[in-house]
Amino acid sequence: MVKRFIPFHRAYIGKEEIRNVVDVLKSGWHTMGPKTVQFEERFRVYTGAKFAISVNSCTAALHLALEAVGIKAGDEVLVPAITFTASAEVVCYFKAKPVLVDVQRDTMNIDPALIEQKITKKTKAIIVVDFAGQPADYQEIRRIARKHGLCIIEDAAHTLPTTYKGKRVGTLADITCFSFYATKTLDTGEGGMITTDNPTWAARMKVMRLHGMNKDAWKRYSKEGSWFYEVVDAGFKYNTTDINAALGLAQLDRLEWMGARRAAVAAAYTKAFTSLPELGLPVVKSDRTTSWHLYVLKLDLKALKIGRNAFIQELNALGVGTSVHFIPLYRHPFYRDTFKFRVKDYPNSEWLYERIFSLPIYPGLKKDEVKYITDGVKAIVAANKA
Ligand SMILES: *Cc1c(COP(=O)(O)O)cnc(C)c1O
Repeated sequence: MVKRFIPFHRAYIGKEEIRNVVDVLKSGWHTMGPKTVQFEERFRVYTGAKFAISVNSCTAALHLALEAVGIKAGDEVLVPAITFTASAEVVCYFKAKPVLVDVQRDTMNIDPALIEQKITKKTKAIIVVDFAGQPADYQEIRRIARKHGLCIIEDAAHTLPTTYKGKRVGTLADITCFSFYATKTLDTGEGGMITTDNPTWAARMKVMRLHGMNKDAWKRYSKEGSWFYEVVDAGFKYNTTDINAALGLAQLDRLEWMGARRAAVAAAYTKAFTSLPELGLPVVKSDRTTSWHLYVLKLDLKALKIGRNAFIQELNALGVGTSVHFIPLYRHPFYRDTFKFRVKDYPNSEWLYERIFSLPIYPGLKKDEVKYITDGVKAIVAANKA
């Protein structure tokens, strides 16, 4: 085997993206403007939501969502124990408390059976993460949320394109927050989008996205704009730019194709690994699809002589980039020390964290690269059977 280097992620950008961006650069207007409006409208139609609001990150989207639903100091917001820090840090912006809920071992999504025991009088919302791009159990989560009067905010940073019981992501929760960060399934470098059907929240998030300036103040430099605006609150600087929107429009055109390419890589991995009992494969429930943002393997530690870290090292030695999604939040010093989270309260997350790692999966990953990766994984398993 000739050694190669296969990075964990590689961007997929075509000539349409480049042409769109060059058009904006030549247009005389670079920040939020007509391309952003077009991108929001295309995204809104794609998801079927009533409102789509572009922002400069999913983190900003989550922050605006919590602000719009009225999270205050002392409130509690439920968050899955295994996610990226952005899902929980936004709760801390309000001096509210993220309350961690353990995840399911198979899908790695929040376990609905454990939600109710975490609900107190202070609980106001649930941030639901669709791990690796697979929607969580929304039917059950909605039932619990309705019963206790909680808002559901979906962290859909991984979730494009995906369906749940035949419905596209974007209308599964009260507010849905998307990421267009460089490694996500729609890439604008940095960027995000919020969808909701609630006109009050949508109006509030639009105002707070741009300095708390009242409606459409961003148009003030355009032909149809006016110099007059009013600041109605201390807002944020979370708008995106027409340069990002130009990338987003081209990426949206190839979204389904890119999803199919990822699915093909996932199918090749699953085919290659299905006969190896040492490897636990991703589980996708039958009433939903996944975007395959991540392909996460779970090692059977009893069947192998080496652990997860050594397995990753061996893949690294073969030139295969990997990562771990995610270090559980309660293991990070900030969350552990501030909220006194204890490892023993999250047995499924601990079980997962010992054995998970993510393989490269992206539209531009070539067939021979997939073969190199599967051959490498098989060779490491064969050399390390317990
Ligand atoms: C990437 C990610 C985010 C943050 O997205 P940004 O657009 O970078 O702010 C939030 N949640 C999860 C689960 C993520 O993976």
